[in-house]
Amino acid sequence: MSLLTLDNVTLKFGGLTAVNKLSMTVNEGEVFALVGPNGAGKSTVFNLISRFYTPVEGKITFDGKDLLKLAPDEVPSLGIARTFQNIELFDQATVLDNLLVGRHRHRKTTLVEQMLHLPSVRREEREHREAVEEVIDFLDLQPYRNKRIAGLPYGVRKVVEMGRALASKPRLLLLDEPASGLSVEETQNMRWWIDDIRRQMGITVLMVEHDMGLVSKVCDRVLALADGAKLAEGTPQEVQNHPAVIEAYLGT
Ligand code: ADP
Ligand code: MG
Repeated sequence: MSLLTLDNVTLKFGGLTAVNKLSMTVNEGEVFALVGPNGAGKSTVFNLISRFYTPVEGKITFDGKDLLKLAPDEVPSLGIARTFQNIELFDQATVLDNLLVGRHRHRKTTLVEQMLHLPSVRREEREHREAVEEVIDFLDLQPYRNKRIAGLPYGVRKVVEMGRALASKPRLLLLDEPASGLSVEETQNMRWWIDDIRRQMGITVLMVEHDMGLVSKVCDRVLALADGAKLAEGTPQEVQNHPAVIEAYLGT
């Protein structure tokens, strides 16, 4: 069953067509990758799904709902969470506090109730803590729980950002270049985590990734973009061996 659908979506930045009549479908439960050379439009597709940009034409639906009717701050409440190509965390806050930010969409109590420390507030707070502790255990972040982001190695910050997205318990997780800048060992861990995110947590994953080794290990289907348009779509192997894809990579 399809979870996310883009139908003939076009986005322009002035004279530049960043996404060109793109149609794609991500099915519930799969790991789907967007690949393509730098500047192909991959991150822009994520920004369209996050509603940071509005396409000049086309439709985007999530779980049957028209995403284009929503404001950017309403997207997480549908169950869509993301990471950014350039990590976006609160640098002066701890790992724990950054992960708690991921719980935002599940907060029901009002600020006044929180200031009064009502029992309902304490109960909700406990739920958030438990959800975050699960993520900390899952991603082996225990040693960093109370450390500030600013002092952490790049690879750990990258994992924390994914953790924040996971803490929201999304239905669709968007990962923008999860393995970029990671060591071989960290990339290996990322592979197992993405596998488990799908298998154990039942979360659908849409990722942008350059590491075709990782893509072919974790993804069911791949779509290759160049100049904002679809070049090829299929299994990782089909896409990697597609003549148009080979040409696009050699041409850059
Ligand atoms: P990718 O993630 O595939 O490397 P992007 O989606 O970031 O590519 O960018 C696609 C194209 O759109 C590039 O040519 C890029 O320079 C351009 N672009 C991206 N964001 C903006 C923006 N906010 N304003 C103008 N041009 C942009
Ligand atoms: Mg990008």
